[in-house]
Amino acid sequence: MRFPVGWPALRRANDAGGNSDRSDLPAARNGTGGRFVGRGIPLPAPGSRQHERRTPMVRTVKVPPQFQPVFEEAERNVGAFFDTMERDPSRGVINIGGERYILMRGESIFRTLRNKMVVEFGREVAASFLYDLAKTVGRGDSQRFAEKLGLQDPLRRLAAGPVHFSHTGWAFVDILPQSNPVPGDGYLLVYDHPNTFESATYLQDKKRSDDPVCLFSAGYSAGWCSFSFGLELDAREVSCIACGDPQCRFVMAPPQRLQAQVDRFRTRA
Ligand SMILES: [Zn+2]
Repeated sequence: MRFPVGWPALRRANDAGGNSDRSDLPAARNGTGGRFVGRGIPLPAPGSRQHERRTPMVRTVKVPPQFQPVFEEAERNVGAFFDTMERDPSRGVINIGGERYILMRGESIFRTLRNKMVVEFGREVAASFLYDLAKTVGRGDSQRFAEKLGLQDPLRRLAAGPVHFSHTGWAFVDILPQSNPVPGDGYLLVYDHPNTFESATYLQDKKRSDDPVCLFSAGYSAGWCSFSFGLELDAREVSCIACGDPQCRFVMAPPQRLQAQVDRFRTRA
C-alpha cells in the first residue's frame, strides 16, 4: 500500500507555530478525530472528554515529566513521518517522508563490520571509527529532520531523536531525571537503552564483554544532540548489558566535561 507523502503540510504546521496536531496527516484517518501517535495508537479527539482528562503519555520514549509535552509533540510528528512509509520492492525502494531508507540486519552492522575492523585495525581504532561514523550519521539525520519539520528550538530538535531511534529499531530510550539538556557547558544527558541492537546481538553469542559495546548508539545520539544544540557533545556508555550490567547507560556532555560526568555516573569498575 502506498501512502501520499504529506510532509509539506506538516512542515507548514510547524512553521505556523509548532501546532503539529493535524488531522490531515497521512494515515490519520481513524474516525476518532484523526489523531495518531504513530500507526495504530490512537489519541482522543480534541475537545472530547477523554482528551481533557487524558494523562500525557509518550509511548516511544520515556522522559521526566517536565519534558512530556515536547516529546508528545515529537512523537506525533515522527510517528506521522513513519506513517508515510512506502515499500515498493518492484522498484527496489523504501521511502519515508520522501526520504530513501534502507533496511539492514543489525548483526551485519554490529558483529560482521565490527569484528572485521577489530581484526584489521585493532580494538581501539575500530571503536573510535565506529563511534565517529555513527556520530556523523546522527548529526546528518538530526539536521535533515530539523529542516523537514522546521524545528528551531534545540529541545524540540533533540526530542525527535529518541523517537526516531525507536522507529528505526536502534533501541528504546529512557532519559533519566538527572539530565539537564541546555545550551552551553552545563549540558548533560543521562539515558538508558534497555535493548540496543548491539547488546541484543552480542547476547546472542552468549558471551560477556569486558567493555561496553554500544558504540553506534553512543555515537548516533551524540551526533543528533550536537546538531540539535549547535554544541559539540560526546557520549560515553558507562554500563552495558553486554558486560552483564542491568542496562546500557550513557552519559552525554561537552567533551571537556565528559570524563567528570562519566566518573559521576559510572556504576562499574
Ligand atoms: Zn550497551
